[in-house]
Amino acid sequence: MITGPSGVGKSSIVSQARLRSGAVFSVSATTRKPRPGEQDKEDYFFIDSSTFRNMVDAGEMLEWAEVFGEYYGTPARPVRQAVDRGESIILEIDVQGAVQVARKLPDATFILIAPPSMDALKSRLTGRGSETPRQIDKRLGEAESELRLAGESGIYQHKVINDDLDAAIEKVVAVINQE
Ligand code: 5GP
Repeated sequence: MITGPSGVGKSSIVSQARLRSGAVFSVSATTRKPRPGEQDKEDYFFIDSSTFRNMVDAGEMLEWAEVFGEYYGTPARPVRQAVDRGESIILEIDVQGAVQVARKLPDATFILIAPPSMDALKSRLTGRGSETPRQIDKRLGEAESELRLAGESGIYQHKVINDDLDAAIEKVVAVINQE
């Protein structure tokens, strides 16, 4: 389970960590619209809210949460199948979701990716250019509360500060290999 606030560099870390560790990636479902360059079924299953609700009602989500006014959830079956096959599977999910997984899969490993500072996070979000200034302010507020909640949850065994991308990737790969 990898959690970190929006803009912290999770996606870059996860995509490299996958390549270097051989772990598979859990593709989440979301009701948010794709960003430029994102592929349906690879980055997310982009679905509408009634399809999402149906999946939740049918018990098909391992966990789900509402983040920034959109729904995000982990389809359970691919995770169970990977675990049964003895594979490592990476879930990139928020704290609310990770807490649900901690109850269902107590042997999972929880990694928190944190920014070196809130200023660094703001520059990254601004540089990405995919959110409006108002959305950036909202995401910064959410980032503070997510980092606080993550600390309070007590589920994260590993904290990786992303001040150097390559070093952060190496640390995550080391945790996956060690676990
Ligand atoms: P983004 O819109 O930037 O891709 O993701 C926004 C937030 O949703 C991030 O904190 C990300 O970790 C979280 N997220 C992505 N997929 C899932 C999921 O399946 N479940 C939960 N609980 N959070 C998710």
